[in-house]
Amino acid sequence: MNPGHAEQTKPSRPRIAVFGSVNMDLVAYVPVRPASGETVGGTEFRQVPGGKGANQAIAASRAGGDVAFLGAVGDDSFGVQMRSALVESGVDTAALRTVPGPSGVAHIVVEASGANSIIVVPGANAAMTGLDENDRRVLEGSDALLLQLELPMEGVIAAAEAGRKAGVRTVLTPAPARDLPDELLDRVDLLVPNQHEAEAITGESDPQRAMAALLERVPEALITLGSSGSLYGVRGAEPVAVAARPVEAVDTTAAGDTFCGAFAVARAEGRGPAESMAFAAAAAALSVQRRGASTSMPERAEIDALLA
Ligand code: ADP
Repeated sequence: MNPGHAEQTKPSRPRIAVFGSVNMDLVAYVPVRPASGETVGGTEFRQVPGGKGANQAIAASRAGGDVAFLGAVGDDSFGVQMRSALVESGVDTAALRTVPGPSGVAHIVVEASGANSIIVVPGANAAMTGLDENDRRVLEGSDALLLQLELPMEGVIAAAEAGRKAGVRTVLTPAPARDLPDELLDRVDLLVPNQHEAEAITGESDPQRAMAALLERVPEALITLGSSGSLYGVRGAEPVAVAARPVEAVDTTAAGDTFCGAFAVARAEGRGPAESMAFAAAAAALSVQRRGASTSMPERAEIDALLA
């Protein structure tokens, strides 16, 4: 089979490639986290496919994108399950590699207070140090490339470089926060940090000032501000703010990934920044009202119904 985007059912579906991580989230719920050497009883356990890359791919696919995932799983049962989970959400996994060894896993402990501790063991994700032929073929036919920072930095830079060469719009979510080399930022069209990441990059806690500083490094930025909405800026124009939707949030896990995936789809459909922010805010608002990460992400029909 020729890796690439799936046959399009509707010609207008934008083609989104995601070069990113996929982890099995192993989540244990406990009253209080165990101290060193201590064993405690948990109240619940959940096993859910996650990883920022997979989450953004699922969000974009459900929001109406024709999404192809570029990444790696191990040759274990988690790998099989994670591939199926992506396929079930409509994501094309023809270019997803299966490499020898374990898949990436995230051990997550959630306390009754909501506080959590996370250990990520990258496993197969560590193999993503560059692109292969299949990845490049997918990029050639894509409108946008979504990147995050859970894969090796050299791989992320190689993907951004290949995206640039292929004329694809490159979107980077700079999470988890780490140093951003110019080698990467020089190849990014749109940077999408949350408020904490924007502050980590610029040293500015005020969103307007952080935006001005970000636009010195990238041509376009979108700062997400949790329940305060989002702020978009492009060089040479006044930033645009769009409010979040007033909803009762029960779990904001992956709100940013839902927002970013939906925004990329709306922009690639030709909508303007403000309209795309409203579309993304609707998708994220639906997701924060349900528990879970990828499991809480809305389908296109739900987003359209909320905006109607
Ligand atoms: P991240 O999950 O990366 O930290 P944010 O917390 O900034 O990202 O959330 C991303 C987007 O999700 C926001 O811009 C907003 O539209 C939506 N969102 C997040 N939290 C809420 C909330 N409590 N109520 C409504 N929308 C929310």
